[in-house]
Amino acid sequence: MIQLQNYIAGQWETVPRQLDVSLCNASTGEVIGRQVESDAEQLERALAFAAESYNASRGWCSLSPAERAARLLRAADSLEARAEHIAELDSLFTGVIISLTSRLARICGAAFRGAAGLLQDDEGAGVNGKLLIERTALGPAAIIGPWNAPAGIMAHKLASALAAGCPALVKPSEWAPHSVQVIVEALQEAGLPDDACQLLHGTAATGVELVADPRVAAVSFTGGLAGGRAVARACAEQVRPAQLELGGNNPLLALEDAQVEKAAAGVVTAMTTLNGQWCRALGRLLVHKSLEAELPERIRQKLAGLTLGHAMDPDSDMGPLAHRRHRQLIERQVAALRDKGGVIHQCTPLPALGGWFYPPTIITGLRPEDTVEEIFGPVACLHSFDDDEQAVRLANQTPYGLAAYVFGDEDHCWQVARRVRAGVTKINAVTLLNLSPEAPRPAWGLSGLGDEGTRETFEFFRGTRVTGVAD
Ligand code: NAD
Repeated sequence: MIQLQNYIAGQWETVPRQLDVSLCNASTGEVIGRQVESDAEQLERALAFAAESYNASRGWCSLSPAERAARLLRAADSLEARAEHIAELDSLFTGVIISLTSRLARICGAAFRGAAGLLQDDEGAGVNGKLLIERTALGPAAIIGPWNAPAGIMAHKLASALAAGCPALVKPSEWAPHSVQVIVEALQEAGLPDDACQLLHGTAATGVELVADPRVAAVSFTGGLAGGRAVARACAEQVRPAQLELGGNNPLLALEDAQVEKAAAGVVTAMTTLNGQWCRALGRLLVHKSLEAELPERIRQKLAGLTLGHAMDPDSDMGPLAHRRHRQLIERQVAALRDKGGVIHQCTPLPALGGWFYPPTIITGLRPEDTVEEIFGPVACLHSFDDDEQAVRLANQTPYGLAAYVFGDEDHCWQVARRVRAGVTKINAVTLLNLSPEAPRPAWGLSGLGDEGTRETFEFFRGTRVTGVAD
């Protein structure tokens, strides 16, 4: 197992503090290591190095867009060579099945290729030789990632910040930090200058210090609402932009004319992708009264036939939750809903592996006002509706607005989907990836701030600069 190390000013360094929290194989519970924390001295050196490099236009910050693009392509090659290793590490620590982490690991290289592509013809707009309008790097960028898809999310943010010309300061999740370290190793091997990326391991405490620092010019954060709010407050204090990708309580609407088989398959995908630890996972299953008997029964049959197993086993349909505390949280949230009158439906057999397994769970019998919060696991609350008006009301009842799914006759779906308050609404399908690589991934309400997307995240890290000769 790779040893966790920080990467500061071109050197790999021991992370000084080992915490009393175990990192485990999510599928077996076997202890593999401990959480670690950077100290203030390391944080200061990393921040000073990134800020000096930006202020003096050195290293990464001195490269032209074409030079950055060439290096990002080399980084993509280097990441592609490590894709298998990245996938294995993420399966080990997050419990996400290897078929999915393999796809997400391949996205890491693709993210760097896509970012390099944005830099073609990106030399700024000159007018009559007297006026130059540029989009240019904001400065040191702090990037804070979650544990559910650690490598894919970090690669997207990091590639975007680097393409923009920002020196990056990266803090992966304390629960699944290894794959991000491999990404930083790949950048180093690809010959990116030392200031391109500083890696700082640690918990929220390290994240708090990082985002409080006035030398940081932009913060991109993916995580929960509490962390997102804290980051937003810190960024407000520094009057700097924050890109926040937070949670969701995403509805799936099965309209009167939905095909039962298709809708049931969509529900199962939405509940089991990333083992339900997916910001776009199903939270509210909204079913037309006419499908109330048939659709839940078809879903039950499908869930009963799933193989819940070891994340590294290619035959597993779904793996465990990421860590013991997270499973305890899900158990508490489900118990609280049971206390409110919810009826718990679980039918997928659990494996005898010792990991943090939790079966896909559907809860019925609750009042809609009791099911507005995110449960970051394979748990969906079912409500039925009489007509489109009620369906839309139920879909829009939560304070979130990340993803939604609508199943039914396609024209009918379009009418309903365009009334749902969500950044992305998919019709008659649930997919891990976005509708198109060019489409943004916006977040409404408490789900976040600042659109995500290939071009959108790149532009997030840039500001406009106008230079000209005054008459
Ligand atoms: P989390 O908020 O606990 O942690 C996320 C990261 O932020 C970690 O690196 C953590 O150390 C750090 N952090 C936490 N509090 C912080 C603070 N006050 N200041 C600075 N850094 C802080 O989230 P998690 O448990 O790792 O991830 C699960 C959450 O992430 C869920 O709510 C999920 O919906 C959300 N998520 C959203 C998206 C999206 O694209 N919208 C994608 C993945 C996950």
